[in-house]
Amino acid sequence: MTRAFIGLGSNQGDSHELLDRALAELAELPRSVLVRCSPRYWTAPVGDADQPEFLNAVAELDTALEPLELLGRMQRIENDLGRARDPDRRWGPRTIDLDLLLFGHAVIRHADLVVPHPRMARRAFVLKPLADLVPRLEVPGLARVVELLDALDAGGVRCAQPDASEKGA
Ligand code: ATP
Ligand code: CA
Ligand code: CA
Repeated sequence: MTRAFIGLGSNQGDSHELLDRALAELAELPRSVLVRCSPRYWTAPVGDADQPEFLNAVAELDTALEPLELLGRMQRIENDLGRARDPDRRWGPRTIDLDLLLFGHAVIRHADLVVPHPRMARRAFVLKPLADLVPRLEVPGLARVVELLDALDAGGVRCAQPDASEKGA
C-alpha cells in the first residue's frame, strides 16, 4: 500500500456536503483505505479571484492502486459530483476538485499526472490542512510540509469545522 494525500476543494453548491460525498466515494475505492481527513478551511480564491471562497481539506488514503488509476478514479468522483469544466476558466468555480498531492515518495512526470502536485508548495490552502495531518512529512524534492507552509502567508485560510462555528449560527 502507498500512502497518498488528496486535496479537496469546492466553491459551488453545498460545499460541506460535496466534501462529505467525495470522502465517502474515496472510502469506497477498491484496494484502498481512507485513513483520515484534515479539518476543513474556508480559503480565498487564488488565480481567479472573482468567485466565492473555497472549502478545502486534505484526505489521507492508503492505496494499492497505480497512480494513474487513482487519478482516473478521482476524476470519476469529480464527474459524479457534477464537476463541469470551463475550458476558458481553468481556475474558475467548481463543485468539487480532487488533486493528487503526494503519492508515497514518488516523483511522477507524466503528461496527465505530475506528483508532487506542481503548485502545492505555494498554496497555503493545501499546506495548512496537509500540515494538520503530517507536518514533518518531506515533500519529495522540496522540504517538510511545515517548512513550506511557514514560507507562505496563510492569512486567507480560516478554520471551517461544520460542527463548531456554523451550527446554530
Ligand atoms: P491546479 O492543477 O492548478 O490545481 P485544477 O485543479 O483546476 O488546477 P484541473 O482542471 O482539475 O486543474 O486539472 C487539469 C489536469 O491536471 C487534469 O486533467 C490532470 O490530468 C492534470 N494533473 C496533472 N497532475 C495532477 C495531479 N497531481 N492531480 C490532479 N490532476 C493533475
Ligand atoms: Ca486544483
Ligand atoms: Ca484538479
